[in-house]
Amino acid sequence: MGWTGLKAAVLAGGGCRIEGELPPGAVARSTAGPGAGGAGAVFFSHGNRRVRVPLGADGPALLIVRDDGSAELSCGGERVEGRLEPVGLHCPRQAFITVSESCLFDCAYCPVPGSRGPRKTVEEIVGLVESVAGSVDAISLTSGVAVSIEEEEEYVCRVVGALRRFGLPIGVSIFPTPATPARLYALGVAEVKFNLETATPELFAAHCPGLPYGTVRDALAAAVPLFGRGHVFSNVLVGLGETDDELDACVDELVALGVVPVLRPLTPAARCRNLARPTPERLVRAARHLSRALGRAGLDPSGAVSMCGACTGCDLAAWRDL
Ligand code: SF4
Repeated sequence: MGWTGLKAAVLAGGGCRIEGELPPGAVARSTAGPGAGGAGAVFFSHGNRRVRVPLGADGPALLIVRDDGSAELSCGGERVEGRLEPVGLHCPRQAFITVSESCLFDCAYCPVPGSRGPRKTVEEIVGLVESVAGSVDAISLTSGVAVSIEEEEEYVCRVVGALRRFGLPIGVSIFPTPATPARLYALGVAEVKFNLETATPELFAAHCPGLPYGTVRDALAAAVPLFGRGHVFSNVLVGLGETDDELDACVDELVALGVVPVLRPLTPAARCRNLARPTPERLVRAARHLSRALGRAGLDPSGAVSMCGACTGCDLAAWRDL
């Protein structure tokens, strides 16, 4: 399966040994997403394909780094030549910033509530973007919920207002209110990602106590006419106990709305730390279903400019990795 098999094995594997010297600026440390609070990760690319490889000596992947900048990644019986990409903030080619590193909600799979991190000031965020502005193509923002969903949205809108001066496309992924799509659109935001997180409302209720599933779905539906098909995204975790049929039904429902599902393999953490990672075979099967659904709907995510849709490091992106 070449690249597809390699990436699926790395995503399902959970760590990579390194041989050779990592170049400066290659290691990303994250306060959100699958690696939040972890040992860091590097990004390996092969043409326009990319995988985020978590560092961890006990993992199944092996990365050989050479002095000339080339690298070889092997995992699951597959081996691919490529190179390591320098990281902007959090991922290559983007200034991807977590605004509030704490959350008053307590989703079962998420390490952020336990980390109780600070909220960055607007000035800090502007300074961070300034530090990488010449080497990134986009600004992306995500956030926990420090005080309330409404207050967080207000604050992130202030941040967006301060970042417009950079003239870069801005992507935003926060927990939405019903007004969020229109507010972000009015501020010139290019793309949004509102995460359904689970394949079914029942799994959402079980894993995300106190959060309204319907609000996310309604915000996604409202966002598509504003931001355009292929520019509205939603993470759906794979591995929380959903069946393949439930996952496929969720994908079909999102695609029918014009929303691009980001099928994110579970990183066992927090109260889900005892769950198994999804197998490579399951990830490939789900990505193939997504590919067919996108094709049927004429929905093309390849023009994504920000966040995970442009990065694709942590997921089998049906439009790039198959
Ligand atoms: S795919 Fe998303 S979460 Fe993963 S490294 Fe890229 S931007 Fe971060």
